[in-house]
Amino acid sequence: MSTARTALETEEHQALRAAVAALGKRYGRDYMTTVIREGKHTDELWAEAAKLGYLGVNLPEEYGGGGGGMAELSIVLEELGAAGSPLLMMIVSPAICGTVIARFGTEEQKRAWLPGLADGSLTMAFGITEPDAGSNSHRITTTARRDGDDWVLTGRKVFVSGVDIADATLIVGRTEDARSGKLKPCLFIVPREAPGFGRNQIDMELHAPEKQFELVLDDVRLPADALVGDEDAGLLQLFAGLNPERIMTAAFGIGMGRFALGRAVEYARTRQVWKDPIGAHQAIAHPLATAHIDLELSRLMMQKAARLYDEGDDIGAGEAANMAKYAAGEACVKAVDQAVHTLGGNGLTREYGLASLITASRVARIAPVSREMILNYVSHQSLGLPKSY
Ligand SMILES: Cc1cc2nc3c(=O)[nH]c(=O)nc-3n(C[C@H](O)[C@H](O)[C@H](O)COP(=O)(O)OP(=O)(O)OC[C@H]3O[C@@H](n4cnc5c(N)ncnc54)[C@H](O)[C@@H]3O)c2cc1C
Repeated sequence: MSTARTALETEEHQALRAAVAALGKRYGRDYMTTVIREGKHTDELWAEAAKLGYLGVNLPEEYGGGGGGMAELSIVLEELGAAGSPLLMMIVSPAICGTVIARFGTEEQKRAWLPGLADGSLTMAFGITEPDAGSNSHRITTTARRDGDDWVLTGRKVFVSGVDIADATLIVGRTEDARSGKLKPCLFIVPREAPGFGRNQIDMELHAPEKQFELVLDDVRLPADALVGDEDAGLLQLFAGLNPERIMTAAFGIGMGRFALGRAVEYARTRQVWKDPIGAHQAIAHPLATAHIDLELSRLMMQKAARLYDEGDDIGAGEAANMAKYAAGEACVKAVDQAVHTLGGNGLTREYGLASLITASRVARIAPVSREMILNYVSHQSLGLPKSY
């Protein structure tokens, strides 16, 4: 099956794709399955990807990064996913946290975090979702109160990925004097072992090495320099991180969809129960072909979003990143569903490893912003339709 060769990609991009695909091939699904079965983390792949410069490819060169952008970082995640070994924390650590610190952090914060995020020695999680706010971020209540030079943070978060392996979590809160009304977010770096920062693992039905956590922030005292950016900069700063998150979730979905489709096509070419392989039947071939088309189309949208973001067009990138995340989430769910079906009974065996992707693929539809919230955004922002909520 062809991989992406599009006019949107430079020769360097294509070379990066090929190099990451080669790394992914050395790890792949078997590595992932072993890591999950043994309750371990993807340390080896994370370290090797970092050493080769892939994890920090979007971060500034002066802080140890590759000097690229989301175009490059999304290629890395897509190709690792297409090999069956996606690194979920790439969506969070270099993409959201690295970008926000690179764009809005102080010189000290950049020096403290960016080289480590780039070389893989440091990881940062990201917490915005709250139990009583969910899709409505304007309702978040995690509150930061000033106490002398310090900040004191109180609140709860839910579904935050990788807090156990992250050195710190970038927590989205609001200041005490902006406690209600439209969200004026501010971002705090909370070290994993900060007193009052508690976590409980959520029992997810997901076959993945990265775990999700409920967090309790009980008067977590932080120094003044835990605040990233300006406390009054508001949504601009937050979306500097959320748009990369959407682009990267698109890459995650496209990679997983390609992996599942690849397995299904291989099976359909060789599995024979009548006179020809099952792939000769159009009832099998056409849904695989449409899955391929949908994945290719969503990649085009992802590339558009990445390019707009990298060129500094935050508004244009916002719309494109939402559309790319939507398209990739749907393409991923469809590709996985069709792949499982193509394998008949084998689609549900552990040996073929596709059934567990049914739940995993739904992550791309739900997070970080659900299918419906993107449709709402497009209805209101792109089409100018009235809002019902
Ligand atoms: C595997 C995984 C990893 C995650 N990692 C992180 C992380 O690292 N950090 C983090 O902060 N969060 C994380 N999340 C949380 C994720 O971003 C949220 O689950 C997501 O934003 C949806 O919020 P919710 O689950 O509260 O759903 P809700 O907001 O309760 O929505 C439930 C359903 O109602 C629909 N709905 C809600 N409002 C509307 C509306 N106005 N119109 C139409 N439909 C609507 C939604 O589309 C959805 O189908 C993760 C989630 C998962 C599953």
